[in-house]
Amino acid sequence: MSIYNDDVFQMACDQFKVIADYLEIPNNDRDRLMYPKRAVAVTLPIHMDDGTVQTFQGYRVQHHLTLGPTKGGTRFAPSLSMGETAALAMWMSWKCALANLPYGGAKGGIACDPTKLSTKELEAVSRRYMQEMIPFVGPHTDIMGPDMGTNEQVMSWFMDTYSVYQGYCVNEIVTGKPVSIGGTEGRREATGRGVVYLIERAMDMLKLDPAKCTAIVQGFGNVGSVAALSLAYKTGVKVVGISDATVALYNPNGIDVAKAEQHVMKKGNLRAFTEADRVDPNEMLTMPCDVLVPSAVDRVIHAGNAAKLKCRILAEGANGPTTPEADLILNERWDDVFVIPDILCNAGGVIVSYFEWVQGLQAFMWSETEVTDKLFRILEHSFTQVIKRAKAHKVSHRTSAMAIGVERVMKAKHARGLFP
Ligand code: NAD
Repeated sequence: MSIYNDDVFQMACDQFKVIADYLEIPNNDRDRLMYPKRAVAVTLPIHMDDGTVQTFQGYRVQHHLTLGPTKGGTRFAPSLSMGETAALAMWMSWKCALANLPYGGAKGGIACDPTKLSTKELEAVSRRYMQEMIPFVGPHTDIMGPDMGTNEQVMSWFMDTYSVYQGYCVNEIVTGKPVSIGGTEGRREATGRGVVYLIERAMDMLKLDPAKCTAIVQGFGNVGSVAALSLAYKTGVKVVGISDATVALYNPNGIDVAKAEQHVMKKGNLRAFTEADRVDPNEMLTMPCDVLVPSAVDRVIHAGNAAKLKCRILAEGANGPTTPEADLILNERWDDVFVIPDILCNAGGVIVSYFEWVQGLQAFMWSETEVTDKLFRILEHSFTQVIKRAKAHKVSHRTSAMAIGVERVMKAKHARGLFP
């Protein structure tokens, strides 16, 4: 049994095998492209507020070291496992390569529910995690960032813990930091903004008028809330459905997304937001809309609901929201559902993280406008390449996007040899 034994890792491997067959990758190359280079598991004992000591499991997976240091987010979620972390690291590798960033993929996190920890406990577990990771990470080795369940504050604790150990300020050890300690203007919004930039490109191609379009957004955290706000107030799309881990809400007349965001800032979640009807969270995904944006957890579009989707554009804000079985169904519906695959759709986060890392290394700053312009230019290039290859080779957008990423990593491995 592999240490990565897990349904999400299996899903990432199944996706990779589709690409490996399409690219006719020789057997000698397959396993070394697919399996992570390094994986670290740590046990984190923490003094809880009630005086007890509780231990948490932490993970970090560095998928490949061929193109530069590894880069990837840190997830705090109760069900996090080594296998899920490895799957997320593998997706990061293809995502970074597709955007032409000089990184291998990584991912890490702690199996914990951050909503059930006090601020003091959250700080203790975050600092302890970074402390245990110090021998394995570094600005030229592996750079952490935020993901589900973590935020700017957690990145600050990571950066501070690492810096205290080194004896000087090392702000390039993490990205997604507050601007006050070397974070980049526009990083917090980057993933959601990127998602919406690509939705606008898809609408353009499909000749959809944003003013006549509706959207449903699953997840109302960093990615989902920024995407919903941007869709509503920048693109001019009517957002009819939003959800988080506590509730799914639908209003055919449109939801006041800014009000929903203020509510979440005050109350922590959408549970008590009353300006829309409560609906079944699973059914929300198959309700009629032009744009569906899953921005929460993986595997929410599966064999059981892929045929029932009523959207025109599926914009994957989350990592791994669509299973390979659902892909087979969506491939049949290619002229009916335009898929913007995750490694393209949510790449805005790692692209601006890359800017933040470069800014940290060079002690040099750019304005938010410069950052956003550069972000959109990279996304535009990736989008054009993905669409062009998909058309030329008559393959899905996901196959096209992943193939570009996998090919780049494979080429680099061939150039370097067996070591990295
Ligand atoms: P977050 O923790 O800020 O927000 C997650 C949101 O999803 C919360 O509103 C939470 O309540 C909701 N949620 C959790 N479980 C849910 C469920 N079962 N159904 C509906 N909603 C649920 O996380 P985030 O940073 O916004 O990340 C969301 C997704 O986007 C993840 O898949 C993550 O890997 C991916 N992603 C994030 C970034 C980034 O920069 N933060 C970049 C790329 C991809």
